[in-house]
Parts: sequence; structure tokens; C-alpha cells
Amino acid sequence: MPEGDTVWNTARVLHRALAGCRLTASDFRVPRLATVDLTGATVLESVSRGKHLLLRLLEPDGEGRVSLHSHLRMDGAWRVYEAGARWASHPAHLIRVVLRTHDHVAVGHHLHDLALVPTGQEETLVGHLGPDLLGPDWDEDEAVRRLAAHPDTSIAEALLDQSNLAGIGNLYKSEVLYLRGVWPWTPVRKVANLGAVVGLAKKLLHANQGRWTQSTTGSLRRGQTTYVYNRRTQPCRRCGTLIEEAEQGERITFWCPVCQPAPA
Ligand SMILES: [Zn+2]
Repeated sequence: MPEGDTVWNTARVLHRALAGCRLTASDFRVPRLATVDLTGATVLESVSRGKHLLLRLLEPDGEGRVSLHSHLRMDGAWRVYEAGARWASHPAHLIRVVLRTHDHVAVGHHLHDLALVPTGQEETLVGHLGPDLLGPDWDEDEAVRRLAAHPDTSIAEALLDQSNLAGIGNLYKSEVLYLRGVWPWTPVRKVANLGAVVGLAKKLLHANQGRWTQSTTGSLRRGQTTYVYNRRTQPCRRCGTLIEEAEQGERITFWCPVCQPAPA
């Protein structure tokens, strides 16, 4: 599941392969960008903002700067290959863009919200985001302030709202609330220490920067990486009660009914 850490890792892979390099070809396979040709543009950097990816390029004229925006949502991915290497077998119809440099090929599969804007206008695409848990602009007080501004929203839904803070998806949402002993339907105003919730989320995402296995337990062994996420009907690692699962908003929430009791 692409959450903030996965997107950060993806940005880094793209940056390492492409930054400083001229594109020798580009192939956009979405109707809106089908006529765009970035051949000759130089990749300046690849960065993440919450769960959004921005690939910044210098146009061939050496003056204009453009940013290619993409979002992975549930199923998108960027893959980087050595030039001439075989691509992993993804269905060709899911390829949205192919960028080539002398040494590498970057292939974007199932990307969402693919858009090209002048770099100075990136804010039109990511300006709504709250402080980025893995970004240089991280501001815990501001994230807490934004959460607290919606006191009647459930804490689980508030943590997923990227305009409050950017980077948390369903896995970290479920895990953070378990570790803090918070019932997912608790209204924000009744959560004792929002700063601690947010601080723990940052710590968990940070721990998974630079690796692809997302673990909140400290274990990287298969089946041992989470406390509640994707563990419905399995015993809680603390109390042995069976983990429950329910729809909440448009997403699934996992929780332990004993470790995360509803407020009295
Ligand atoms: Zn429990």
C-alpha cells in the first residue's frame, strides 16, 4: 500500500536514476498528455509531497521549469530499469508514461492524476496538503492545529485527510491508533494527546524510509509486520483478543476491541 514512506522511497529511486540526466525520449499514454514531448529536458530532482510525486525538469531551452505530478493511490508504481534491460511483466495497457535517459528507463504504471505544470504552479496540485510527515516543512503544531479544527470528525478519518497532515494511509492510521490505545471512532476532541498521535505517526513512517517492507512492530518477518492492519480475526499481539475489521468512511479500519476501547 503506497503511503508516505513508499512514495518517499519511490521519489528517491527516481531521483537517483534520473537527476542530472537529459531525457532522450518520453512517451505519455494518457490522452491529456499524449502530445507532450519532454525529449531534451533535464531532470532536476524528484521529490515527494505527502503521497504525491513531483518530478521537476528543466526544459530544453534551459529556462522553463516544469513539474510532472503523479499519484500512486492504491495500485500505482514507478519502476526504473537499466537501458536495454527487460521490464518486469506489468500489463502494457497499465503503462501511463515512459521516460528514457541514456542509462535508464523509468516506467510509470497505473499512475493517477498525471499532470504537467510549470514548477512555479505546483501549489495548484499540492497546495491543499497539510504538513508533510516526511517533508522539510514538517510542523507538528500545525498538524495538531488542523486536526483539532474538526473536533467532531473521527480520529481515523481525520488522520487520513491529507489536508490535515500528509503521508498517512490506512496502514499507519490503524497502527498508530492501536499503539496509542485509541478507538478509531473517537471524535478528535476526545483524543487525549493529539501531539503524541501525530508524533508516533511520524516516527513509524520515518522508520520505514529507505526500505520497502512497511513494519510498525520492528519485525520484518512476513506476517509479523503489523499489530492490527490486515489481521482480522487473528489474536491481538498484546491481549489475544481477535482483531476486528469494519468499514469506516470509505476505508477499512482494523482494531483491537480490548486495547482500543470506546470512550465511556
Ligand atoms: Zn488487544
